[in-house]
Amino acid sequence: MTQSGIEKILEVDNLSKTYGFLRAVDGVSFSIQKGEILGLLGPNGAGKTTIINMIAGLLEKDGGSIKVFGKDFSKNKSEILSRMNFAAAYAQLPGNLKVKENLLIYAMLYDSPNPREAVKNIIADFGLYEFTDKKTGFLSSGEQSRLVLAKALINNPELLLLDEPTASLDPSTSEQVRSRIMNYAKENGASVLWTSHDMCEIEKVCGRVLFLSRGKILLEGHPKELPVRYGKKNLEELFIMIAREPLSINHVT
Ligand code: ATP
Repeated sequence: MTQSGIEKILEVDNLSKTYGFLRAVDGVSFSIQKGEILGLLGPNGAGKTTIINMIAGLLEKDGGSIKVFGKDFSKNKSEILSRMNFAAAYAQLPGNLKVKENLLIYAMLYDSPNPREAVKNIIADFGLYEFTDKKTGFLSSGEQSRLVLAKALINNPELLLLDEPTASLDPSTSEQVRSRIMNYAKENGASVLWTSHDMCEIEKVCGRVLFLSRGKILLEGHPKELPVRYGKKNLEELFIMIAREPLSINHVT
């Protein structure tokens, strides 16, 4: 907890990742408060997934620091990972296992006090009942995304990293999943880092957004107020301007 009474759940400072000559993430700094849903936006290749993967411990950083729950991530990895979770449309679960088996494995990996009960609850929450005995590899891509999101809540995470969580979902399922995650965050005071290319979605779920371009943060603000500041009608218009003319915006960090 800081002197101002704000509890920072995630603090990223001067984070960087380079691939050859490409600075995929170039000195990025930001933080997330307890209970906050922060949108990480930017055009294809801006560095969103690279940032999420470094915070999730899936990718080594080249420079900078990551603190989660006030602790240095590199020195407290297992404790921190047990209190957070991650979902991405591309991070599928083993296809040869049944839905209930995959969920049970994760419930046990996260030391759930009652793994079978946790699986039962999460299956009900995400409407996965009809798929419980189906092999994961036979689910449609939207069904698999729902399963991956269900897995991401199995340990009641305090920090949730979501990389395009609704990318392959139909509008109705997207809406259900969004509500489920927003309610989860509200009820549990959980924090969420959320990437998406759906600007309407971001306007609905995020209290604050960061715009990335070529590995750097260009803008930060409220999803409804930022467009107005730049003379745009909405976040989508602002996104298009930033994607096409990133140099017309002054760096803020
Ligand atoms: P998208 O919206 O398309 O998912 P993104 O913002 O998530 O994009 P990243 O996946 O973080 O972008 O990629 C950032 C940059 O780093 C891209 O130019 C990408 O080509 C590059 N990159 C990512 N991983 C590697 C890698 N393993 N080797 C080389 N370059 C990489």
